[in-house]
Amino acid sequence: MVRAAAATAPASGRPAPRSPRARASPSEARTVPRRPELSERGLHGCRKDFPILERSFHGRPLTYLDSAATSQKPRSVIDAEREFYETLNANVHRGVYALSEEATEAYEKARARVAQFLHAKDPEEVVFLRGTTEAINLVAGALARGGLARGDRVVSTEMEHHSNIVPWHLLRQHPGVQLDFVGLTDDGRLRGEDLDRLLARGTKLFTFTHVSNVLGTVNPVRELTERAHDAGALVLLDAAQGAPHLPIDVQEMGVDLLAFSGHKVLGPTGIGVLWGKKEVLRKLPPYMGGGEMIREVDKADITYKDPPLKFEAGTPNVAGAVVLSRALDYLSRVGWDELRSFEHELLLDAEKRLKAALGEALTIYGPPVGRDREAVLSFSLKGIHPHDIATLLDAEGVAVRAGHHCAQLVMKRYGVPALTRASYYLYNDREDTTRLVEALTKVQQILGR
Ligand code: PMP
Repeated sequence: MVRAAAATAPASGRPAPRSPRARASPSEARTVPRRPELSERGLHGCRKDFPILERSFHGRPLTYLDSAATSQKPRSVIDAEREFYETLNANVHRGVYALSEEATEAYEKARARVAQFLHAKDPEEVVFLRGTTEAINLVAGALARGGLARGDRVVSTEMEHHSNIVPWHLLRQHPGVQLDFVGLTDDGRLRGEDLDRLLARGTKLFTFTHVSNVLGTVNPVRELTERAHDAGALVLLDAAQGAPHLPIDVQEMGVDLLAFSGHKVLGPTGIGVLWGKKEVLRKLPPYMGGGEMIREVDKADITYKDPPLKFEAGTPNVAGAVVLSRALDYLSRVGWDELRSFEHELLLDAEKRLKAALGEALTIYGPPVGRDREAVLSFSLKGIHPHDIATLLDAEGVAVRAGHHCAQLVMKRYGVPALTRASYYLYNDREDTTRLVEALTKVQQILGR
């Protein structure tokens, strides 16, 4: 099994040396894997909490291996959505009547719950938005109007989801910022020497992903942040793939801004979070204008509220925020160490069995399963297009994703047009892998050379 397509001639020439072992990030430090029991149906038998996993497709039970795209929801989260509309629904911050006050209280309690989840200093550092994409666009848009000037440098990485590339591309056009990317090693890690070189040239903002949605790489957040801060750069972390799997402590990580999406952490779609240090949020100009974000409007002048309300123009997703807090309750009860070791065991088991069943035709991308690797398994099967694989797997009830995974820089780096990705979460089990291996064996028999 070749890792990270060493055989497929990386675009950047000679294989880069492995990056030096980085100091453990807070999340890594607290999550040394222990051996869990894989015989249960999901971690602690939690699969039964997820009603959708009882569904069948094409006469086969659903094998859901696409949690990196979106997670499934436990019954407590589904119930919370109904409960909200049955008992709490009213607009927030405006009404003087009791129901509106209760809705406002629930919304602000949800903000406090998110702050606790992130180990933030203050709930006022938490801005509710639609998700990671909107949060990153908010930061990019605000910086374009209030912090970045023509010629300023923004550094991103080749590992990013398009959500953390395209908003910066927009800034290349206006106001004309310089955009650079930290490259990747053959085994799917960031090239430390690229970062040093780019930071040395003067960088205003360094933005990177906590966990790669294709390679599963877990980046050493605190170490990278310290390096960027030493060079005077602001740091924005995309935690869309980190928050579902690793404990987040913004104070220990040291980042200035962080984004994550509710739907990937067992919560609903349409709700997500931008967290920022108070002093950083205060300096950013508002992103959208509308109700509830102003202090005073006059014909010739306007003053805004303090964050977070300055960034929450219009009626927010009140139900989404309240239900997200219930999802975080569920996730936090699971136990991060158990989750991490359970996912590692699942991944090790899957790699072993896939390799045994598919042999040399299989190429898995990303670092070996370990401390800096999360529950994503992206692979190619020699001579078979990933879209054909995913279509045939669907006929067996196995839901995986195929394509460029909104990470075309990763595809280009490893010289592949697309990959197939199986991603695991707390409700998966060995049986899911058994079905995946059986279905892939069939695919290989039908289409393999
Ligand atoms: N960043 C990463 C690393 C992701 O995996 C995703 C979602 N696939 C996003 C950002 C965007 O998240 P959303 O679509 O919820 O805004």
